[in-house]
Amino acid sequence: MTSLYLSRLKPDERQVLIAKLHSLQHGNCFICEQAIDLEIHKDFLDVDHVVPLNDRGKDDPVNFALTHASCNRSKQASNLEVARVLHRFKQLKEKLANENRSPNLGDLLQNASGGNYKLDFKLSENIITYSMGELGDNSLHSLPVYQDELSGFRFFFANIPIQYLAHDDHINPRTIGPNISKLVEEFYKKRPQLHVPLAWMNSESGKSAIHVFDGQHKAAAQIMLGARALPVRVFIDPDHDTLITTNTNAGTTLKQVAFDKSVQRHLGSSLYQDRIQRFLKETGRPEDDLSFSERDLVNHFKGQSKEIKRYILDAVRNGVTSDSGNRLRDYIDLGGRGKESPLSYSTIEKTFYSFFIYQEVLDTPINFRAEEGENPRIVECKQILHLMNLIAELIYIDKFDPEVGTDKIESKLQKGETFAHDHLRAYRMSKEEIVYNWLQLVGQVARTYFITLGRPDPMGRLFQIPFPDQVWENIRKFLENLMAMPLWVNTDLSDTVFGGKQNNGFWKTVFETGRTPQGMTVLAQPLNLIEMIR
Ligand SMILES: [Zn+2]
Repeated sequence: MTSLYLSRLKPDERQVLIAKLHSLQHGNCFICEQAIDLEIHKDFLDVDHVVPLNDRGKDDPVNFALTHASCNRSKQASNLEVARVLHRFKQLKEKLANENRSPNLGDLLQNASGGNYKLDFKLSENIITYSMGELGDNSLHSLPVYQDELSGFRFFFANIPIQYLAHDDHINPRTIGPNISKLVEEFYKKRPQLHVPLAWMNSESGKSAIHVFDGQHKAAAQIMLGARALPVRVFIDPDHDTLITTNTNAGTTLKQVAFDKSVQRHLGSSLYQDRIQRFLKETGRPEDDLSFSERDLVNHFKGQSKEIKRYILDAVRNGVTSDSGNRLRDYIDLGGRGKESPLSYSTIEKTFYSFFIYQEVLDTPINFRAEEGENPRIVECKQILHLMNLIAELIYIDKFDPEVGTDKIESKLQKGETFAHDHLRAYRMSKEEIVYNWLQLVGQVARTYFITLGRPDPMGRLFQIPFPDQVWENIRKFLENLMAMPLWVNTDLSDTVFGGKQNNGFWKTVFETGRTPQGMTVLAQPLNLIEMIR
């Protein structure tokens, strides 16, 4: 709408107004915040209403701003304050485009100098107390802790300064989309939204960042408008696997991409999905196209090959870990701190996933032989799952007792306490340095089968080749013979070989020679693979 006020100004009066605005705005354009030179730019300037007349802005100097004419014409919102906020976002986008990525909440936090601190807190049954020393706020804030009735997770609500907020790009890899501008406008107009993002914290050390994993658009809009603190619902020690699964489901359902079901499961990692979507868009392919390879993806995102590779492997790992048919999962501590589960997730990564997931990118199309059930990544995923289930069945299910747990078992043994043999065996065989060695032998059992048949050594691709029944039979026999070895239940070994943490090499020597590196006899004889699969 044109300004009656401005149209009535004489040229010299207009010059006075421009000079006044110029100095009020410290010499900068109201929208792009870059310098305005009153001489050089004199023919390329606009004076406009900050709040449009349509929005009941006043036609009065208090509501005027000086801009570059081009900035005013290309603004993304009629309200100039909103336009300025969106311009800042556009600049951030352009900056990150050089790195071949789009802004996420983490980038906005960083831009607003947030995300640097961890909260110091104390947690009791139903109260959390914290202070924010880094901000000079030493008062003790106490808040009630609730339990979510459906998920069982504990949580509290708090207004958290952005300095303590971090973005969790693992659980939520999505970037800020174009609909952010509408949200910014709604927030700007003081219209209530669901302001509250979801976050999690780790209670272990009494110091934790607040990791936002959902509601990042609304969080971003508030930060863009200058909010220095956000109301947040903070889950305490939630199960990460659940959060990632929730997010993956949300991602696939909301994006409504027509992926084949089994391929979709393989694409369990949302980061990987995100890159695939971008790849499809940037190469102009249809959105259900899966005829490109992992290598094509890596080549497309230049300078990010390491990350893309990781996302690909993450997708396989995630596909195995979060599969609802994974029976070993009950025995894996996904949070990394429990005393009930014999295996830690980190052990699973360093053994199962590092041995059996092919670590290089594939040149075959993502959907290669998917319909025939021979897609290498899907076969890999399924067979690792199969192996985990076999191990769960033989070693853990109805044998490892979560009530008894893993806490100080060896020292309790030394004090004369006794444990069921099945439980003790499962516990000892789960120690990372021990799994590391026997699981490699499982891989060798499978490889040996192919080599004996005169087939080429599958090496790292082992689990991408469908195993005949005989291989599974051999693995079962190997595991049964391994479990039958007396050392797992020999209580005399609790203050020697099982007493402390040994390294991988220690157990390699034990398995290869029957003796510890120090010469103590542990096995009746060295392990013999051929005999163990008989
Ligand atoms: Zn400008």
